[in-house]
Amino acid sequence: MTDILSMTKAEVREYAVSLGESAFRGDQIFGWMRRGAEFSEMKNIPAALREKLSENADYRLPHIAEKYTSKIDGTVKYLMELTDGECVECVLMKYEHGNTLCVSSQAGCRMGCTFCASTLSGRVRNLTPSEILGQVIVAARDSGERVDGVVMMGIGEPLDNYESTVRFLRLVSGEGEPGIGLRHISVSTCGVVPRIRDLADEGMPVTLSVSLHAYDDSVRSHLMPVNRKWGIGELLGACRYFFDQTGRRISFEYTLIAGENDSAAGAAALAKMLRREMAGRPVHVNLILLNEVRETGYTSSARAAAKEFAAVLEQNGVNATIRRRLGSDIDASCGQLRLRHLEGA
Ligand code: SAH
Repeated sequence: MTDILSMTKAEVREYAVSLGESAFRGDQIFGWMRRGAEFSEMKNIPAALREKLSENADYRLPHIAEKYTSKIDGTVKYLMELTDGECVECVLMKYEHGNTLCVSSQAGCRMGCTFCASTLSGRVRNLTPSEILGQVIVAARDSGERVDGVVMMGIGEPLDNYESTVRFLRLVSGEGEPGIGLRHISVSTCGVVPRIRDLADEGMPVTLSVSLHAYDDSVRSHLMPVNRKWGIGELLGACRYFFDQTGRRISFEYTLIAGENDSAAGAAALAKMLRREMAGRPVHVNLILLNEVRETGYTSSARAAAKEFAAVLEQNGVNATIRRRLGSDIDASCGQLRLRHLEGA
């Protein structure tokens, strides 16, 4: 079976021709798929061709298994079920400047960050490019909203599923719906250093979000096992390379965990390290209050500690913002919907 949703417009056209159809039919099929229509809903495609397609092409979008809408800010959290029954999360966030969708790249994760719910039951498998794109198509169709930007910050490590991630980036930003410019896309990574360098070489002007969460190697190795393989020095070296190749500012994510990484002295050390290592390149730190996951035993820093941490970064010449928490009335995020689903709760 051909994975037809993983194809570009030109490839679907060629595929139609290979089935003995016109290129125009290919364009019609492509347009329907990108709007989330089933083969049976493709009204202007002859029934015989729809039949042929369902026999030859594998085209199944994720199915919405659970959906929660925030009464406070309209954020929509989806648990989406893939064709083999695996579930991933995706979240539609509404900002003044447009709608951003947070997508998952793997079913589970094997990176082992000690504060994260997505990694607790390991990685089951990588998502295909069409399964990542499918989240965008299904969320847009379900909500009736345009998706203006995408962040790869859902379940999984995008750079541990590199080929699918890059293919997804080409599909989602290429011809046809949803047509999201790469400048409106962020790829978040825990620090898979060789793949950061590869991504820099792809010539894609995406934003790189680096989950730093620590001001030195000992704190980081304790929170994030990936740091034992590639330490902060190598990671920031790859960040410099990414900026130098793409001209895109790096965004550092920093989740504040009480007593682990949230001291004022830590903030000063972080600012000093970033200014030294990034040497004049633009840097932004996004502070996030930990979303407490029962199984991990960590607690979030207080808002006052976050404000102080941000103030110390600013005093030391590093831009910082505390991320607004959207959908806070929905008690699930960062892999918690999937986890509960796995536990059968
Ligand atoms: N694997 C990628 C993307 C997925 S996680 C990465 O590590 O960047 C998206 C962000 O949420 C990362 O910065 C991650 O460290 C952070 N995160 C994970 N669990 C969290 C939690 N319980 N509370 C707050 N942030 C969390």
